[in-house]
Amino acid sequence: MNHFQYKNNELYAEDVSLKDIVAQVGSPVYVYSHATLSRHFKAFDEAFSALPHTICYSMKANSTQSVLKTFFNLGSGVDIVSGGELCRALKAGVDPQKVVYSGVGKMDHEIEYALTTGILMFNVESEQELTRISEIASRMGKKAGIAIRVNPDVDPGTHPYITTGLKNAKFGITIDRALEEYTRAMTLPGIDVIGIDMHIGSQLTKVNPFVDSIDKLKVMIAKLRTQGINLNYFDCGGGLGIQYNAEEPPLPADYGKEIVGATRDLGMHLLFEPGRNLVGNAGILVAKTLFTKARDEKNFIMIDAGMNDLARPALYDSYHGVQAVNKDQDGMIVADIVGPICESGDFLVKGREVPMFKQGDLVAFMSAGAYGFAMSSSYNSRPRVAEVMVKGDKFEVIRERETVEDLVKGEKIASFL
Ligand SMILES: *Cc1c(COP(=O)(O)O)cnc(C)c1O
Repeated sequence: MNHFQYKNNELYAEDVSLKDIVAQVGSPVYVYSHATLSRHFKAFDEAFSALPHTICYSMKANSTQSVLKTFFNLGSGVDIVSGGELCRALKAGVDPQKVVYSGVGKMDHEIEYALTTGILMFNVESEQELTRISEIASRMGKKAGIAIRVNPDVDPGTHPYITTGLKNAKFGITIDRALEEYTRAMTLPGIDVIGIDMHIGSQLTKVNPFVDSIDKLKVMIAKLRTQGINLNYFDCGGGLGIQYNAEEPPLPADYGKEIVGATRDLGMHLLFEPGRNLVGNAGILVAKTLFTKARDEKNFIMIDAGMNDLARPALYDSYHGVQAVNKDQDGMIVADIVGPICESGDFLVKGREVPMFKQGDLVAFMSAGAYGFAMSSSYNSRPRVAEVMVKGDKFEVIRERETVEDLVKGEKIASFL
């Protein structure tokens, strides 16, 4: 069920008109559908109902408190990559025992903070990190639950910037080194070895790379068992793709069937770190047309949102569907939809057939719920935009639009000036 639908040629989020939202909140604005968030979570969760499992939503995809709370209400935990994310998740009410902590550059104060709050486990990404965690935990009189993030050297067939499981990636410990590290981890005083972890990339549209990686890790698990190292948690990471345009990613149910088939005999508790899959198609960015201009063969549509608001097209050349909020344009036109930022990379759409937007028309960029607001910045001193959540026929602002005052917060003019 798509919750972004037209009624009388006007685009709605659930039962709320986007035009009404912009009239009250202004533009640009991110709009999320609560029903879509819930449905995506439940579909993913149900795909693994056959086995003990916990979904640790990868909050870097969208860390807005109301989005987190929506998932926590449904039983989710989180995959975090910083102390800041842990703080956010705790504020939104996460159960610390459902928190896993990934990332190649964990800082001492972040490790301490995570140990203080009692997270489930650290996904360790290097030999030195393992040593450091043990030192800090020992000093605090604690034992840190850990999994080693094993890099299975499997090509997920996705964009190079979001490929993480190849041998030369910065992530994880290579599979040939991992066995040794597990043996060492068992001897470290501050470490409780409880799991194994992988995360091979993002926006995967095939199940095979997941299953191939799991099979490689299973060989390791078997070896560990012969050494008396028994792990309880198998963290399968995130990465399941979504449809932006013509992709045909597997449904969570199909992905689930394959993963359950591959892991069932292990008797382990499964963890998952989906990000994009839960939030990507649950959010859109609505912007307003400022001006249009035609130059020789090229048409430009200038809007009030830019690469600072939605970075994915500039960063990965990625595709976001475009829809008119009010369908009253005189046909279609091939155009670039560009933002106000002083960079040639500041485009949301390049050379695509889109409605012939005119001044004042609202434009909806679809599938913007993941890595949308979360990656936004205030580059060009543009305050970050507002966020709204819709539920049925109601909506609320879940993040106020920043002000210019917010932008200079913390700055001071040096006394010698
Ligand atoms: C980014 C990330 C995820 C989530 O990836 P998606 O493609 O959004 O599902 C999960 N785990 C780790 C370690 C990540 O870095």
